[in-house]
Amino acid sequence: MDNRAPWIITLVLMTTVNSTHALGDTSFNVIASFSVIKDLVKRVAGDSINITTIVPTGEDVHRWELQPPNALAVEEADIVFYNGYGLEPWIRHIEAMANDSLTLIALAESANYETLAIPVGHYKDSTDPHMWMDPKGAAAYVDVIEKTLIEHYPEQADAFTTRADETREALAQLDHQLSERLEGIPHTNRMLTTSEASMAYFARAYDFEYAAIWGIGSETIGSAQAMEAMSMRLSQKRPPALFYESTSPYIHMDALARETELALAGPLYIDTLSDADGPAYNYPAMLRHNTELLHEYLGGARAEE
Ligand SMILES: [Zn+2]
Repeated sequence: MDNRAPWIITLVLMTTVNSTHALGDTSFNVIASFSVIKDLVKRVAGDSINITTIVPTGEDVHRWELQPPNALAVEEADIVFYNGYGLEPWIRHIEAMANDSLTLIALAESANYETLAIPVGHYKDSTDPHMWMDPKGAAAYVDVIEKTLIEHYPEQADAFTTRADETREALAQLDHQLSERLEGIPHTNRMLTTSEASMAYFARAYDFEYAAIWGIGSETIGSAQAMEAMSMRLSQKRPPALFYESTSPYIHMDALARETELALAGPLYIDTLSDADGPAYNYPAMLRHNTELLHEYLGGARAEE
């Protein structure tokens, strides 16, 4: 390296910084419906695109009601990335206010990934929207995000593809790590029970028998019949633990745990990430946190002793 090289690097860096600002200023604005989708979009989009989230971290994506700042964000946006398959019932209000230049992309509905049906409740047999709970499902979202961003911002195509490749690689590694960790749970303990039926894709990916009280958080939840059915099931199966989720009401699973004298663990993070200082601060952390909770409460540690 000759003496001029540091100056050249400095110039290149300055140019990069300036052009990044310029890109930001030309308002490349996209919207993500909730925190998990924002995390995945951000991994592919990088820093040159502004990403606004509709549902704040910690709130229930199923039951969100649009606020005035959401409407303002929609006016400024080029693309809205949402999950689809009924996860966000409020998306119809965004569709109603959208102008012709706004593109709405339902990631789950566009993804090349084998879907499952909702197993219980009012929406039984409809497509289960919670595909991101399997890293392979998240990778299928990344494919759609990459394609959509390239179509809209072709001048950044190479950068999108590079980051999408890195993200797919990281998700494949994550999948492998979770699988190895969960192998520590004995087969007879591989029973996963949650309030909302939001872990079916995770259960399929990692070989768990799965049950939930209700189908999806946007329906009327915790009916007497559903509670009775779950109580009977738990009395027969006696799983090592029951699990509650960060955005579902706690009272139903707590009541079942008391009635059946089974352990209750949580929260699992599914429909939202946590705050930055919480255990599910990004997508991989969310799945690792959930995996550690299952490992601890379903006897993974005992099996390894
Ligand atoms: Zn949900």
